[in-house]
Amino acid sequence: MPVYKAVQGTRDILPESEMAWRLVESTVVGVADRYGYRRVETPIFEETGVFARGVGAGTDIVEKEMYTFKDRGETSLTLEPEGTAGVVRAYLEHGLFTQAQPVKLFYLRIPIFRYERPQKGRYREHHQFGFEALGEADPALDAEMIALLWEIYQDLGARDIVIQLNSIGDANCRPAYIERLVEYYTPLKDDLCDDCKVRLVKNPLRLLDCKEERDQPKIAAAPKSADFLCGPCAEHFGVVRTLLDAMALPYAINPLLVRGLDYYTRTVFELAPEREGRRQSALGGGGRYDGLAELLGGRPTPGIGFGAGMERAVELLKEQQLAVPPTPAPQVYIAVLGAGAHVEGTVLARDLRSAGWRAQIAFGARSLKAQMKAANNSGARWAAIIGDGELERGEILWRDLAAGADVPDDARQFSVPRAGVLEWLRERM
Ligand code: AMP
Repeated sequence: MPVYKAVQGTRDILPESEMAWRLVESTVVGVADRYGYRRVETPIFEETGVFARGVGAGTDIVEKEMYTFKDRGETSLTLEPEGTAGVVRAYLEHGLFTQAQPVKLFYLRIPIFRYERPQKGRYREHHQFGFEALGEADPALDAEMIALLWEIYQDLGARDIVIQLNSIGDANCRPAYIERLVEYYTPLKDDLCDDCKVRLVKNPLRLLDCKEERDQPKIAAAPKSADFLCGPCAEHFGVVRTLLDAMALPYAINPLLVRGLDYYTRTVFELAPEREGRRQSALGGGGRYDGLAELLGGRPTPGIGFGAGMERAVELLKEQQLAVPPTPAPQVYIAVLGAGAHVEGTVLARDLRSAGWRAQIAFGARSLKAQMKAANNSGARWAAIIGDGELERGEILWRDLAAGADVPDDARQFSVPRAGVLEWLRERM
């Protein structure tokens, strides 16, 4: 038994899933390019205040889940528990508000840390990609953001997923809704889970986000934010829906959808598998956060974005058996017999790789048979064999590994002068 294991709730990402991760990454980058979003990378830790204020008091994240520590200079730092606050901090710090608005940014494979109860699909370190557009309040941007999230999963080939949509109003109309929510919940107080008792006092909107089974019927019957929208919020919501309809995006209004974070206003959305409850399996979620920049000390700046879990995207590829490109096999496997051949083979491997070929060479002093077996197992198209005879004649012996077993050696093996090897290979691959 090894002495150390990965910390509970964290996982190693091993090479066998590398191509799935790469596919998610390249799909995200492709969609980002098409929609005109540029990559931003912020540090994985920030001063605690960025998240404490940006995510908000009373949220599970801030109250219970942050990895917060003092560094050696006694500064309180927090490992990022979500991606948005850091991006908005960077937008303000670097004066990106002086550029043409909206500023459209995305992040990719950022580690996210939350001290949650580890379970399937829920880790203490996971990774997200996410998109943020700052400096524009137009509901068309909400629709673009949702379309973009949808398109990433379309490009991956995902089936049976649906966008859930809601509006939670703004500072103008939400207070009346919250008041009504508190009125509704107050008589039910004694029967609420402990967390919800606290939420009722500290952050009533989050009552709707409770994951406890026993509170679900109460949530289902709770007043709905969309019924309390003021004129401008209702209009905004209407335009978002009109645009989604026009693009024929399949979405469902979920009147109980709220986001776990404080800074959201108006549009909230989530992408989730159709059948399962969204709480365990959301692929991504986000919304409009017109209040966030101010919370972080900036001037009022509208914004909208989402974060999406990459482990869940990779898991979806597996569950739905979606096409993932295979790990690239070597194109050439170099087999060497004898010390002189090792030198020649090493140089050949370097020449091939420099010319752009994927080449592997056998290590150690193994028999030709063992080396040919390794060559076949590697999936290489060609074996390049170097023995004493080849060395003497200044040649490489090429063996076609794709030829069937019935093809005689003289039809699948070719002696090629060392100097002409690159050209010979180029003509055959
Ligand atoms: P959230 O900011 O909580 O909405 O998270 C955004 C997305 O990240 C979710 O929709 C999930 O896909 C993913 N996610 C959130 N928390 C976890 C976690 N603990 N483990 C794995 N994925 C997560």
